[in-house]
Amino acid sequence: MSNIDKALNANRTYAKKHDRKLGAHPTPKIAVVTCMDPRLSDLPGILGLPHTDLDVIRTGGPAVTEDVLGELVVSTRVLGTTEIMLLNHTGCGFTTFTDEELNAKLIALTGDASPAPMRFFSYKEPEQNTREQMKKVRSHPWIAKEVPVRGFIFDVESGLITEVQPISQDAAA
Ligand SMILES: [Zn+2]
Repeated sequence: MSNIDKALNANRTYAKKHDRKLGAHPTPKIAVVTCMDPRLSDLPGILGLPHTDLDVIRTGGPAVTEDVLGELVVSTRVLGTTEIMLLNHTGCGFTTFTDEELNAKLIALTGDASPAPMRFFSYKEPEQNTREQMKKVRSHPWIAKEVPVRGFIFDVESGLITEVQPISQDAAA
């Protein structure tokens, strides 16, 4: 049996105990942008908050793409979150290749060079990546100035989160 089929069976048991109040309109408090890496999946545990408080947006890296910016606009303007947390991590798979390398590898693997090169948003250094993300989100005119945009790195070995300071306006000038 595949893992997805096992999950479907387990869901029938889950649904018997499902909290039906969760069917109501969600009221998340924080938008969290984090990596697709499964080590970031226990966000209620990592952050000590109920999952209903967290509006989680996940991409590889994470990458703050145009889609992610759109989701942050909806999260803050429609769903009502009041803080934005950009959660990077150590040991990210997206630091282990460059976009050029992975595109070349996929062409070699499949023998098919017809797709346009993919943008994987690979990066090298989580602190720098976090600072660039903060700048990108903060500078979007549809993200309200009152909404804090803070960046962090989760250490996958210690379990601790460290805040990354943004580049100050003076330093960036
Ligand atoms: Zn990652």
